[in-house]
Amino acid sequence: MPRYARVMVDDTGGNAFDYEIPPEVAGSLQIGSRVWVPVRTRAMLGTIIGFADGTDAEGVKTIHSVASAEPVLTPLLLRLGEWMASYYCCPLEVALRGILPQVIRKGEVGHKTRLFVRLIREVPAEELDALTNKAPLQAGVVEYLQTAGKPVPASELAEKCDAGHSVVQALVKKGIAVAESTKVERDPFEDEVFLHAGQLDLNEEQRVVFERVRAAIDATIPAPGTAASAAGPLPILLHGVTGSGKTEIYLQAIQLVLERGRTAIMLVPEISLTPQTVERFKSRFAALQQDVAVLHSHLSDGERHDEWHKVRRGDARIVIGARSAIFAPVRDLGLIVVDEEHENTYKQEEAPRYHGRDVAVVRAQMEKCAIVLGSATPSLESYHNATTGKYELLNLTKRVDDKKLPLIRIVDMRTDPRKKGSFLSEKLITAIEQRLTRKEQSILFLNRRGFSTSLICEKCGYVCECENCSVSLTFHRAVARVICHICGYQAVAPARCPKCGDVSIRHSGTGTEKVEDLVARIFPQAIVRRMDADAMQRKGAFRETLGAFRAGKIDILIGTQMIAKGLHFPNVTLVGIINADLGLHLPDFRAGERTFQLLTQVAGRAGRGDVDGEVFVQSFTPFSPSIQFARHHDFEGYWEQEIEFRKQWDYPPFSHLILIGIRSPHQARAQFSAETLSRRLAEELPAGANLGEPAPAPLEKSHGQFRFQIMLRSRSVMKLSRHVRAVLDKLTFPEDVIVTIDVDAYQLL
Ligand code: ADP
Ligand code: ZN
Repeated sequence: MPRYARVMVDDTGGNAFDYEIPPEVAGSLQIGSRVWVPVRTRAMLGTIIGFADGTDAEGVKTIHSVASAEPVLTPLLLRLGEWMASYYCCPLEVALRGILPQVIRKGEVGHKTRLFVRLIREVPAEELDALTNKAPLQAGVVEYLQTAGKPVPASELAEKCDAGHSVVQALVKKGIAVAESTKVERDPFEDEVFLHAGQLDLNEEQRVVFERVRAAIDATIPAPGTAASAAGPLPILLHGVTGSGKTEIYLQAIQLVLERGRTAIMLVPEISLTPQTVERFKSRFAALQQDVAVLHSHLSDGERHDEWHKVRRGDARIVIGARSAIFAPVRDLGLIVVDEEHENTYKQEEAPRYHGRDVAVVRAQMEKCAIVLGSATPSLESYHNATTGKYELLNLTKRVDDKKLPLIRIVDMRTDPRKKGSFLSEKLITAIEQRLTRKEQSILFLNRRGFSTSLICEKCGYVCECENCSVSLTFHRAVARVICHICGYQAVAPARCPKCGDVSIRHSGTGTEKVEDLVARIFPQAIVRRMDADAMQRKGAFRETLGAFRAGKIDILIGTQMIAKGLHFPNVTLVGIINADLGLHLPDFRAGERTFQLLTQVAGRAGRGDVDGEVFVQSFTPFSPSIQFARHHDFEGYWEQEIEFRKQWDYPPFSHLILIGIRSPHQARAQFSAETLSRRLAEELPAGANLGEPAPAPLEKSHGQFRFQIMLRSRSVMKLSRHVRAVLDKLTFPEDVIVTIDVDAYQLL
């Protein structure tokens, strides 16, 4: 056994130190073990990332104690962490923070145990009679345990037999029963029953796709007598229109992988991790007696702990989860699926700022396993990789059972005749009316919550703005407050202008709350519900509303992006998009791409049953390409014009982009730091890299901080990352200046 362990200490910003291994624990430690080590005067937790027989370090200390000898990291996950650190330009410790769930790192939550009581010998009838006379409660417990025929939780005995601790103890003393604490799983789906569901017969198009996926899976598992290919199969990009049966293919591919003795990870955007998706997976694999681990952000620490261990032990061989599920500690990975691969929610917006899809591709490469990226609207990056031969492209062009894609009608809001100030066109109102008479359901989409998006004084022009951010406050009528959607600042909504005291405050801009209000007034007979972050605050509200909608108890559902994706309701025949222009004019080169994706996804909610769907898209710029191509379901047309634009300006996918953010409560310090940094970066910029001017961010102020940014672009990201790291390591900034590095940034505002 080597004498020294290299330990990456938590929360030190990335320092690894060598420690001597105490002989008594030497045999049990592995890479990935967690240990307590002395750092200055404190004991801290860290992860073993290597071993050595010698060390150059001076004053080497000894490991205090072992927190968990069982490794929390596999060597492969450690390698993935190293890749992340160099690609995303962050310390390894920060990368590992992304890989290990907090609850596992801290090690404060353990397995849940419960006290069970069981009989350890027969109790003959005479003895029981005697007991009944002397101690009826004890006798009651014996009878209860006899009937149960298995260990019973002490809490159940307390409830059913009125038998508290002393009663059980008496039986233990008599040598009749024992009380033992037993490990139990916290199961987030404890109360649910999943009906077994078998697989569907694939249609022609699906079969062709499935054969290619099967070939990729086969390539990872060598036929007897041959060697596995050294590189692993090409990643597959599955471009399939909404409702074309992509999920069915994922399910069958995962089943195939399980049959081959391997495991699978399926990533879905947090937002699509709806009860519907989970149910579909649980039901399918329940039929095969396979447990599915579900990892998402709403689990309690205890639940997350148990799901993670279930995966690590190999008791669950299928993991479905949001982006961080890509770090699930499964072994023998055979397949990774990334559903809705274009979704921005795969990008983590705090350090480590990784992209779940891109990490998935790298992990697949390291594991030499198959990977399928699926979407109805692939990202430009992935589609570009498919056209250049880095990925294999597969297509599903038709909806299952030849259901038609919905008919999309664009409503030109500049010329549409409607009541003054109304944001609902006559055409859309008529369409909703028709659905109500036909007892069909409608969805109205607006990606902005609240009632009105700003309060303006008609007299003096004053606008209610956030004290901490450079945005106007949104009025929420339900709570009669104005709220900042950036930092959460709130105040009582003013009845008069705070500046001039006039009462003519005008509400401008529309949010979902106002849509709900107007729709309820136009259609008093309809049952209208709103689904957005405000309406869904109560735990379980999301589920309940979806359940009610599915059961047909809601006629019109109004919502934000929460309802845009992944939902499948056969009775929805109408989708209205209230304002397609929102987001189209943001200062972000992806604005067009996002609008195209969003329109296509939202439209995809219509017509998934027997009746054809219809979509109304309201817009003030009806001829913008994103809207026109979405209208014709023309991904290729859209792709061709968009890729041309990216090429012309050398934006991704033709370059990688690193966005450096510099912020401080003091504007001058932020600006000065940005300028200094920019100068240093320019001094030894690697060839082929492009450095933008330091400039105020489009959102100039947020959470009381002034924000500046520097944009770097280059074909090779690793070289650029190294350069940025090297420059930053040599610079010191004033204490209140925070510098962030975002590689392949998505959030440009
Ligand atoms: P996507 O993931 O592309 O949106 P889904 O896999 O959710 O599509 O399929 C849409 C609907 O069609 C689902 O209700 C699904 O059960 C059904 N479906 C998928 N494949 C088949 C098939 N081969 N035969 C019958 N129904 C299918
Ligand atoms: Zn604010």
